[in-house]
Amino acid sequence: MNLNVNLQAKPVSSNGPTHEKVLSVTHWTENLFSFRITRPSGFRFRSGEFVMLGLEVNGKPLLRAYSIASPNWDEELEFFSIKVPDGPLTSRLQKIDVGDTVLLGRKPVGTLVHDALTPGKNLYLLSTGTGFAPFASIIRDPETFEKFEHVIVTHTCRETGELAYSKFIVDELMNHEFLGEMVEGKLTYFDSTTREEHARMGRITNLIENGELFNAVGLPPFDPAVDRAMICGSMDMIRDTKALLEKAGLTEGSNAAPAEFVVEKAFVG
Ligand SMILES: Cc1cc2nc3c(=O)[nH]c(=O)nc-3n(C[C@H](O)[C@H](O)[C@H](O)COP(=O)(O)OP(=O)(O)OC[C@H]3O[C@@H](n4cnc5c(N)ncnc54)[C@H](O)[C@@H]3O)c2cc1C
Repeated sequence: MNLNVNLQAKPVSSNGPTHEKVLSVTHWTENLFSFRITRPSGFRFRSGEFVMLGLEVNGKPLLRAYSIASPNWDEELEFFSIKVPDGPLTSRLQKIDVGDTVLLGRKPVGTLVHDALTPGKNLYLLSTGTGFAPFASIIRDPETFEKFEHVIVTHTCRETGELAYSKFIVDELMNHEFLGEMVEGKLTYFDSTTREEHARMGRITNLIENGELFNAVGLPPFDPAVDRAMICGSMDMIRDTKALLEKAGLTEGSNAAPAEFVVEKAFVG
């Protein structure tokens, strides 16, 4: 037996990121953009999960956690990103163009997945800022509408322009040739701003407490028997929203122990 030949023939196994091509980039505001990249064959994920994503900087991978905004059936991968002016990654990532290469981790993970919730009737997806990204994935996944009768996606930002991406995703979905019918009468989009004048204003916690959310949706307040929720936003938003759900009797779940709501940070800091 020729050992050398055998060793060389062995496939090289690597846990490092794969190199993917940028297919399109859309700038929504000075601080927010979205982009689509190639999806490697064999890259599987559950809608709502996040993955490490980044660029090669000075010959080394610079990676950050990113929620996958596209649903798991999509042939491409979509992301929705902040532009932090002096952020190590996003000061560079915001300059990507079609044809450029980005690095993609191999192991999507996360708690904002159907598997972490027990069955229910109404699904509330509560987000601020780029926390909408995992919900852009979940609302475009038919499984969501097979499992729930009503899906309510909320997005709160400081300014109206920051709602452009979520509004676009929801409009596109409602007018989609095949998916439009699936979401008709089942999906509610509930947007609000906290700073700039807008049709609806206020933090999501205030809009829950004063009943405005439930009035708009036409449903009674949170009830652990029928309501399920996912939260994605800043630490403060998560803390305060989680407290309201717990006050209503919902308990936090995980992949290992599914329950009535799940939580994930939109960023650390
Ligand atoms: C589970 C998870 C999922 C994430 N998903 C996304 C996503 O889908 N899109 C996305 O843009 N970011 C997401 N992030 C944040 C992301 O990992 C990076 O922090 C972000 O890309 C900025 O990277 P940076 O190197 O430029 O700056 P960093 O050094 O990472 O951050 C610098 C500072 O910028 C602020 N910041 C970072 N990210 C955000 C943000 N998204 N919104 C508001 N302020 C922020 C924080 O104050 C932070 O301390 C996620 C983070 C986690 C933990």
